[in-house]
Amino acid sequence: MNKRAFLKASGVTMAGSMLSRLLHAQGSAAPRTNWAGNYTYTAPNLIEPHSPGEIQSAVREHRHLRALGSRHSFNGIADDAENQIAPAALKSIRIDAAARTVTVGAGIRYGDLAPVIDAQGFALHNLASLPHISVAGAIATATHGSGIHNGNLATAASGFEFVAANGDLVQLSRASHPEHFNGAAVHLGALGVLTRVTLDVQPTYQVAQTVYLDLPFAVLEQHLDDIFLSGYSVSLFTDWQQGRATQVWIKRRTDQTYSPATLGADFYSAHPARENMHPITGHSAEACTEQMGVPGPWYERLPHFKMNFTPSSGQELQTEYLVPFEHAYPAIRAVETLRDQITPHLFVTELRTIAADDLWMSTAYRRRSLAIHFTWKPEWPQVRTILPQIEAKLLPYSPRPHWGKLFTIPPARIDALYPRLADFKSLAARYDPQGKFRNQFVNTNVFAD
Ligand SMILES: Cc1cc2nc3c(=O)[nH]c(=O)nc-3n(C[C@H](O)[C@H](O)[C@H](O)COP(=O)(O)OP(=O)(O)OC[C@H]3O[C@@H](n4cnc5c(N)ncnc54)[C@H](O)[C@@H]3O)c2cc1C
Repeated sequence: MNKRAFLKASGVTMAGSMLSRLLHAQGSAAPRTNWAGNYTYTAPNLIEPHSPGEIQSAVREHRHLRALGSRHSFNGIADDAENQIAPAALKSIRIDAAARTVTVGAGIRYGDLAPVIDAQGFALHNLASLPHISVAGAIATATHGSGIHNGNLATAASGFEFVAANGDLVQLSRASHPEHFNGAAVHLGALGVLTRVTLDVQPTYQVAQTVYLDLPFAVLEQHLDDIFLSGYSVSLFTDWQQGRATQVWIKRRTDQTYSPATLGADFYSAHPARENMHPITGHSAEACTEQMGVPGPWYERLPHFKMNFTPSSGQELQTEYLVPFEHAYPAIRAVETLRDQITPHLFVTELRTIAADDLWMSTAYRRRSLAIHFTWKPEWPQVRTILPQIEAKLLPYSPRPHWGKLFTIPPARIDALYPRLADFKSLAARYDPQGKFRNQFVNTNVFAD
């Protein structure tokens, strides 16, 4: 997908003002897909509200519906058999400098938000690999970046406003509802339609990004912690061949110190890249954030991809499993045994770390985690046969699959991975007693008994 097509697909060119303020039904339009094009939404009707009030009316009016973000999930988590509601037009940004928070409309994407808060002297604690995703949709699936001390993006959420199944506007915050706010943060779209999200911010900071090439896996056994602690956010990329990480991306805040203090000519046997790199071999680095140790604003270094370019590959599938960090090395080596099945269908694997959190449905719930990610070629028949093999290799390490990506782990096993699942179901039932917001994905993977 080129830049123009991406902007079109992501809604930037959508002429919302041309439409009446009435809710818009898209019943006879061409099939709508997710960003990657691998999933065609079954919902015949797309509702595009322009205010929380219009969301309330839509929720009251419809028997069944599901919120849609920027469409970057790879599975049916954002789909519905009847209606989707996309609050992309809700673009407000309100900074509370004293409270160190920013409250955003549910249509805001990280790429919209970051320059605005940065201009006011603020920053978020972390970002995903791309800034194109909506805040509401990212926290729904426990989207994360990297960094041993960095929680996923939902850990920055301190308040929500959402429309519950009866059409009421509900305010929830960490302060007002300490007993169940942690249950609402990674919400899987199952509590209602978010209209606003409040995020914690901190003073802005600069980041410098350095890339190394060819880090042998053998050094991970002794130095995994050191390597992942060598920056604020560290990613290893691999094609699983030749027992090595093809690239190591080290993102360092300029206001913090790390070990080694200086990134020199040798990094655990890896050597420095001589030019900006793309994680996928053969792709132009033009789409990637600046590297070569040049400091820049946090939001132009923490993501791998720039806002106005196609992130990653475009035509692709993604899968990701989070395992406890203490099992990181054996888990990596276990997946490596499948290299000859994996590599022909793979664009690239990324290894990242995520701090443990207390969010009930978070993939990092009470586990400091290593995330093993796969960007696949768009070859689902083959990928589908590989996933159970990877899942079997990771089974001893209780892998939690990313909620927004492709997996084949049976629902019964997912159930066992989330100790607060029953509490989450009760919380969802409180705001949505009839299951108005439940779709096939959550019915299968979360609400099945
Ligand atoms: C190229 C690419 C790179 C990616 N990189 C990363 C990465 O670095 N790290 C990572 O963890 N993930 C990554 N992902 C996955 C992505 O971050 C998640 O799938 C994320 O949930 C997508 O957000 P979205 O806004 O597109 O939401 P959608 O995919 O549209 O929806 C996701 C969920 O959010 C819910 N939702 C959306 N808006 C609302 C609302 N207003 N109210 C209630 N529920 C709502 C939906 O119902 C659904 O359940 C990547 C995906 C792509 C395509």
